[in-house]
Amino acid sequence: MTVRVRIAPSPTGNLHIGTARTAVFNWLFAHHHDGKFILRVEDTDVERSKPEYTQNILDGLKWLGLNWDEGPLFQSQRLDLYRQSIQTLLDNGSAYRCYTTTEELDELRASQEANNQAPRYDNRHRNLTPEQEAAFIAEGRRPVIRFKIDDDREISWVDLVRDTVTWKGSDLGGDMVISRAADEHELGQPLYNLAVVVDDIDMQITHVIRGEDHIANTAKQILLYEGLGVKVPEFAHTPLILSAEGKKLSKRDGVTSIDDFKKMGYIAPALVNYMTLLGWSAPDAQELFTLDEAAKQFDFDRVNKAGGKFDWDKLNWINSQY
Ligand code: GLU
Repeated sequence: MTVRVRIAPSPTGNLHIGTARTAVFNWLFAHHHDGKFILRVEDTDVERSKPEYTQNILDGLKWLGLNWDEGPLFQSQRLDLYRQSIQTLLDNGSAYRCYTTTEELDELRASQEANNQAPRYDNRHRNLTPEQEAAFIAEGRRPVIRFKIDDDREISWVDLVRDTVTWKGSDLGGDMVISRAADEHELGQPLYNLAVVVDDIDMQITHVIRGEDHIANTAKQILLYEGLGVKVPEFAHTPLILSAEGKKLSKRDGVTSIDDFKKMGYIAPALVNYMTLLGWSAPDAQELFTLDEAAKQFDFDRVNKAGGKFDWDKLNWINSQY
């Protein structure tokens, strides 16, 4: 089996250090296994995606030396492929058209909040009769397409970083919207989790390596693989990069994009070296290495489970060694 991994940035901002570090781990894993590293641009969010961010991300990855073997593929050009899978899910009964209005959803959320319940859709349109559907259509309601998520499901996978992860269906927010602005004939605008799964299947991705902020998405995506009748890939959820104080990195930390580091004078090989160490350690505790040297030794057993705190002294030291 050839290892195939991908980096799938959303072009809603400049190349972020978190995305760059995920790219580093994917690149190292691909090269360790003589596999392929693929670039996919997740630009289905038309309002927030911008071509200049795509350019910045591509330039940043190249500057860091994280060259890709295939791509870039753009999700915005693959909508028909996603719609085919939505049709499959409708045909096999895993998905359905839901006519609940925004006002009804707001009411539901308000009553759940009042009862201290977590917000979740109550799956009320799962089993509509053709007559009920026709009545909603006659009222002028536009459906979304939802994928069924049973409360009593337990989703479990052996994560390459975190070992066994288990998630309850009841913690996934009810049946999930996989397409917006559909109507009774059209399949609408495919959404994030569906597009990711269809692409990962189509690109024959063997290992999905991404930040641990995607864990709940992984649980949902595993259900989509099942719905489509396709084998689930391996998953590795890498720890997030934290600020020096141990908090989630945010805009307030000032330096979050690769451009910021570049402007401050950090050089690419030093930055890549530092990002590799931010979450991984070499078996011989070596601290200075090229990407190729790190790739020889890279494996997920030595990726930390806890978040990596940003350490300016260490970065400066590494930068001074190049
Ligand atoms: N587009 C997602 C992001 O930028 C990544 C999705 C994935 O790796 O599956 O966070």
